[in-house]
Amino acid sequence: VHRDRFMINTTNENHKNLDIVNSWNLVWFLSLNIVFCLWLILNNFIHTPNDFYREVMNMLCIATTLFSALGFTLKALISRKYLARLLPTYALLQGILWGAMFYMMVKHYNNPSLTLSLLISTLLPATISFYISGTVLLLFSVPISIAMLLSEITAYDKFNFLQLSGSVIIFIVVITARYILLEWYTRTQQSEYAKNLLIKKLTHLAHRDALTGLLNKSSLLTHFEEQAQRLPHSGGNLFMIIMDIDYFKQYNDLYGHIAGDECLLSVAKCINQSLRKTSDTAFRFGGEEFVILTHCNEMAEAVMIAERIRTNIQKAKIPHRGSQLSPWLSASFGVAQWVKGYSFAVLAEKADKELYKAKQAGRNQVSAAKR
Ligand code: GH3
Ligand code: MG
Ligand code: MG
Repeated sequence: VHRDRFMINTTNENHKNLDIVNSWNLVWFLSLNIVFCLWLILNNFIHTPNDFYREVMNMLCIATTLFSALGFTLKALISRKYLARLLPTYALLQGILWGAMFYMMVKHYNNPSLTLSLLISTLLPATISFYISGTVLLLFSVPISIAMLLSEITAYDKFNFLQLSGSVIIFIVVITARYILLEWYTRTQQSEYAKNLLIKKLTHLAHRDALTGLLNKSSLLTHFEEQAQRLPHSGGNLFMIIMDIDYFKQYNDLYGHIAGDECLLSVAKCINQSLRKTSDTAFRFGGEEFVILTHCNEMAEAVMIAERIRTNIQKAKIPHRGSQLSPWLSASFGVAQWVKGYSFAVLAEKADKELYKAKQAGRNQVSAAKR
């Protein structure tokens, strides 16, 4: 299941675009665009006579610079998710702008070596920036490639094999470079995924009891502190239920320790069945003792929850020949209410006293502290 989730993540186009947007890739790409455009404008002023070509080229350079600035603005203003969705269209329009400029340049200079250097200088940075998403890279490259092809066809009257093979080599470089980068990207993704999974597992191990899957004693302490602090603001009252299985020593003696563990698992299921999702939390306090922290309005409500657990354990009819009460497993409960100022130890002691009373009074029952 985890593996599938990972596969979905890396094959999803929008997720890949989000990675481009989140990294420095897009910033680098936009900065390069602006620097390159400004350099071209400078170059035009120094080397090109003030003619129609220079006018159009400068306009295209300014348009591309503004379009790149728009990219920066969008990155700063809109949500990354939207930007990721816009990215393919943005790359296509950027590609068209560069394609138009290169078409003009090749036509103007009529220089065969220019095509190859222009292709290299745009496609390689684009590959480094967009390797994560084939779609984005392709959308940027296609208009430039078409413009190059068109300019070559119209610039030279005869078919130029050498020129064409040069372009093919550049495309091969781009495609292989992309796959090498992509391999690193995938490795990083995989190790990131493995790391997160490990953190999840370790967190689970640290907070939960391995046998029953319930929260453990150290979680109980942190939950208690949190809830005791929050309670004055959230309203309601906090109650602690301590539960202890009756004659569990005999259960182990009769059925063995492994069966005893399985029995604890069944009891944990009974507890989970009986709790309300948001206001009750169960913990394995130790051995065959469990604690439930519950938010209730009054004691009667908390007692009802303890009663529900007690009845569900009875209903589960777990055979217990060693019990002096009945042929089935049972448990006893002590309930106490938290009052402002009570530490965990004080509350636990109050609930434990009630549990002792329940045991004394004959077990398989709930005893509640009177305030
Ligand atoms: P009581 O009705 O008075 O509670 O009698 P009891 O026999 O249950 O007495 P107590 O609560 O003192 O018994 C605890 C026993 O629970 C001791 C031990 O054999 C058993 N136990 C504690 N932890 C585990 C555990 O993780 N697995 C198993 N199988 N048994 C455990
Ligand atoms: Mg006990
Ligand atoms: Mg016991």
